[in-house]
Amino acid sequence: MSRFWSPVVHTLTPYVPGEQPQMERLVKLNTNESPYGPSPKALAAIAQQNNDDLRLYPDPEGLALKKAIAQLHGLDPKQVFLGNGSDEVLAHVFLGLLKQAKPVQFPDISYSFYPVYCKLFGITHEAIPLGSDFEIRVSDFTLPNGGIIFPNPNAPTGRAIPRSEIEKLLKINTDSVVVIDEAYVDYGTESCIPLLRGAVCPENLLVVHTLSKSRALAGLRVGFAVGHPVLIEGLERVKNSFNSYPLGRLAQAGAIAAIEDQAHLETSSAKVIQTRERLVKELATLGFETLPSSANFIFTRHPKHAGGKLYQALRDRGIIVRHFTSSRIEQFLRITIGTDDQCNELILALKEILASN
Ligand SMILES: *Cc1c(COP(=O)(O)O)cnc(C)c1O
Repeated sequence: MSRFWSPVVHTLTPYVPGEQPQMERLVKLNTNESPYGPSPKALAAIAQQNNDDLRLYPDPEGLALKKAIAQLHGLDPKQVFLGNGSDEVLAHVFLGLLKQAKPVQFPDISYSFYPVYCKLFGITHEAIPLGSDFEIRVSDFTLPNGGIIFPNPNAPTGRAIPRSEIEKLLKINTDSVVVIDEAYVDYGTESCIPLLRGAVCPENLLVVHTLSKSRALAGLRVGFAVGHPVLIEGLERVKNSFNSYPLGRLAQAGAIAAIEDQAHLETSSAKVIQTRERLVKELATLGFETLPSSANFIFTRHPKHAGGKLYQALRDRGIIVRHFTSSRIEQFLRITIGTDDQCNELILALKEILASN
């Protein structure tokens, strides 16, 4: 604490990201990174940008990247907003769209960064409890609100709802913005982006994507939001009041090549889904109960073994997973889907741990 901190700093509860340990020989299954590399075309594009032009500022609009995203998703470039990772996009969304007189609503169990933005920007929020099977029930989001946000599939549960449910939500919620954070959409969830195509694009739906998970570029820091051009214009006003150049030249070049390499995304996502289904089955034979996952992670618990103890025992064996201490989910582990070899190591370790307890 310092008397030189501005008053707001004293009130903050910063987000704690999953650790990036420096230990060697580690099975790192804690932050939902892809176990497979990015598109080789993205790596080549980044290498090509590594030249004297780095003395020049990048395109502040990132127009070439916006065009690539618009092309992929059947949208207009004016419907695309770019940010330094989707965490930055979300920050601008909270300040630019969700800071309203009424509270913003999100599920009680959801991406734990949302309440952090609320604190930072002085936004009130209301936690809407998930159902007993940790499912999002859109019919619970009926009270007047200053906006609604949740990931689909939800994090850290991995549970998804179909696009038709979000269409229902848009019908019952016409007076505020609905933000769908589709960080994990490529592992088997229907995207809401098709709702944004053409003249019927609703003015109050925003969909947020990241290149950090399925496109395996967490280290490059690129995320984007798509929606009606007037929503995007609001976000641009916030961004240009904060940082005109959130994406460097390397990030823009790499992101364009990654977006254009849909085949690479599909191959690696299919591998992750296959490993996920196998892992869930093997965990079930050990007695684990796993929520149905549409993500590149699973949320699982063992009725006879405490989540915190399993977390620590895995860690002692060099396997890092994520454990949350909030009340409804403290018995769960969130485990990123790694390679088949990593998942085999995990299963072996869990067999040992369960046998020794
Ligand atoms: C990982 C994640 C993000 C952030 O991704 P970045 O683009 O790396 O900032 C956003 N939302 C959810 C739900 C995530 O899990």
